Amino acid sequence: MSPLSPNGTGSNIVVNHLTSHPDLLQVHQIPGTDQSHVEVLKSFKRGDKLAALEGLSTGATKAYSSVQISSDSHIELNSSFLFVNHSCDPNVAFKISSCWPASEWKVEALKDLAVGDTLTFFYPSTEWDMDRGFECRCQEKTCLKSIKGAKYIDRSTLKQQGYVSPHIWKLKEEQEAESK
Ligand SMILES: [Zn+2]
Repeated sequence: MSPLSPNGTGSNIVVNHLTSHPDLLQVHQIPGTDQSHVEVLKSFKRGDKLAALEGLSTGATKAYSSVQISSDSHIELNSSFLFVNHSCDPNVAFKISSCWPASEWKVEALKDLAVGDTLTFFYPSTEWDMDRGFECRCQEKTCLKSIKGAKYIDRSTLKQQGYVSPHIWKLKEEQEAESK
């Protein structure tokens, strides 16, 4: 997940992911920085599937670029979706979890999307304890400021999100049970 360097230096990311969905996504990178964002090139209604999540590397090591799919496993997206930034009020969800068959893994719209919109997703919706936390500057009213993973966010705050993965809810239940 961005921000990151274009070639994913030091990781196992495939290099050609900038053009993985040329009819759907345009990745913008700010020259001289590691900042990027993803523009959507088609419009969607809330609940629509933007794309299936295919071509993933399973068994990945947890990293800034990986996505968590269960309590202890991670994947690499190997596509332009890697560059979708975090927001505390996101417009898409990565519906990816070992609870479901891989054929059902997808990116889904949480809001209506217009051509040219910047895609965002809520990183703690898949990530329990992130490899690399950061201070959020999404400027949404609901901004949580410090983003380190769902482990550090209480249940009521998580519930206010449009979508959180089933493996995150399971980990939250376990965490709550341990603290009793
Ligand atoms: Zn934020």
